[in-house]
Amino acid sequence: MICICCPLGCALTAVRDKEGEITVTGNTCPRGEAYAKNECLSPKRTVTTTVRVKGEAQAAMVSVKTAGEIPKDKIMDCIRELAGVEVALPVRIGDVVLKNVAGTGIDVVATKNIEKK
Ligand code: SF4
Repeated sequence: MICICCPLGCALTAVRDKEGEITVTGNTCPRGEAYAKNECLSPKRTVTTTVRVKGEAQAAMVSVKTAGEIPKDKIMDCIRELAGVEVALPVRIGDVVLKNVAGTGIDVVATKNIEKK
């Protein structure tokens, strides 16, 4: 796998032995080892998308992201929940637009400032 923790993009190899121990090679730093082990055991991602702005034209959207990483298998649940979210203006970077998305314990926050007209 390719490490996505920094632009260097080290090519990692993870091997699990009979006891379940995972050995990682190809990493230049400890972050790569942690990334590879997480990818094998419990892969997670930060989700970025947009949600509608309440009462505005159809094209009015605000960019959002999960405040932390969520399990990969919860990404589509996250997207489905956000499809029904509308944000009232004004909105500020860091405002919580959805709490505990998909039961992950992680909130979704705005990543853009939009003033009320
Ligand atoms: S292993 Fe370390 S140096 Fe290599 S891509 Fe990952 S974070 Fe960057």
